[in-house]
Amino acid sequence: MDEERPYWNMEIEPILNTPEMREIQLNGLKVFLRRLYDNAPFYTRKFDELGVVPEKIKSLEEFSSSVPLFDKEGLRAMVMEFGGDILKVLDQIMPVGVDDLNIMATTTGTTGIPTPYPMSWHDMEDVWGESIVRGMWRAGVRKHDRILFCFALSMVIAGIPTMMGGRRLGAMAIPVGAEAGTDRIMLMQTLFRGTVYCGTPSLADYLVEKCKEQGRDPKDLGLRTLFCGGEPGAGIPEVRERLESAFGARIFDAGAGFGVSCDHEEYQGMHWTGEDLAFLELVDPDTKEPVPFEDGAEGEAVISVFAGDGMSWLRTSMGDIQQVFTEPCPCGQTGFRYKVVGRTDDMLKVKGVIIYPNMVEGVVGGFVPKVTGQFRIVLTEKPPRVVPPLKIKIERADDFPPDGLPELEGEMKAAFKAKAKLTPEIIWLEAGELERSTYKGQTFEKLYEE
Ligand SMILES: [Zn+2]
Repeated sequence: MDEERPYWNMEIEPILNTPEMREIQLNGLKVFLRRLYDNAPFYTRKFDELGVVPEKIKSLEEFSSSVPLFDKEGLRAMVMEFGGDILKVLDQIMPVGVDDLNIMATTTGTTGIPTPYPMSWHDMEDVWGESIVRGMWRAGVRKHDRILFCFALSMVIAGIPTMMGGRRLGAMAIPVGAEAGTDRIMLMQTLFRGTVYCGTPSLADYLVEKCKEQGRDPKDLGLRTLFCGGEPGAGIPEVRERLESAFGARIFDAGAGFGVSCDHEEYQGMHWTGEDLAFLELVDPDTKEPVPFEDGAEGEAVISVFAGDGMSWLRTSMGDIQQVFTEPCPCGQTGFRYKVVGRTDDMLKVKGVIIYPNMVEGVVGGFVPKVTGQFRIVLTEKPPRVVPPLKIKIERADDFPPDGLPELEGEMKAAFKAKAKLTPEIIWLEAGELERSTYKGQTFEKLYEE
């Protein structure tokens, strides 16, 4: 195979974000709705009730306005209805049976029961895996690469399904996993010299700190590419710059759907590479009404994975607020782009101003190396409403003099004001005071739970 070709899939990727692709999506959705109607009792009932006839849907807009949303609350209600038997619930909502499944992954489930991500081999290879190989190919990963695999391997979709899904690239996987801890990760990297890091940005940050402790330069680890996901860091300019210069590597942002960022100097969002597999739409986070899918539009991201078996979500919220860009990217690659503005669960309202932790991370990250980049937003009440001032704990860097803090605090407050009309209260901590994580970085300190 031609290693120089621009895309992994030269049949599909050149026609992303075209009217031809929208035809493919509409047909794919109709076939999918029919499969659900015929095989998933929940949808047989639902479609009969609402008069949805798959073959009669004329446009993507009609699909959005006639098919109901399926949200986490809906899933939770069904789990209750079936006495906690999630497998029975899956049989109700999937176009295949539980016996057809080959692997079960879940969300990280930071709150409550994790959402299941059931998969057949078809899902693993041709749906999830296909999006992974397309993304990694765009990030320049090839057969000769060795992938230091640092996502948590246990249960999460970023773990084993992603590692196995990427196997067709022919690269070597080094499945060390976040659970192994940073010492083990450093040892495996030293022994087997991975060229590509695959993991969360916060773990990559943690590795930089480990290197410093051991008196090593992260550049000497030999990683050429950082393929990041699981959290928004790789889409935050300040974090990108910090990690790229620390490792001397290029960073790519993947996830929150079927996409990957490009190699353009300035972050352009992620290119959605899986239009033939899944349909992305935006809805108003309050009313859940469809938002027209135009350049610059923002809304709650809703996905329908119409090519899947177990991975067969129909109009399911991803819990993200995304902004989409349908105009061509300056990098020249195909696929509309999307940026994650924030998680719907993480939204804060401070005096009517909407704040997402991504913004805070960006401002704090802009002050590295005077600060470590670690922070916590302290919440004394259940969000989203926050009585001002918003309290943020920030670590000063080891070598930053304490008597310089008042001046630094003034600069940071000015930066928050300029970026989000926010005047936070800053609580200073010593370097290393906040607990580090090998998985997703912590954002909040929730005092109201204690
Ligand atoms: Zn681009």
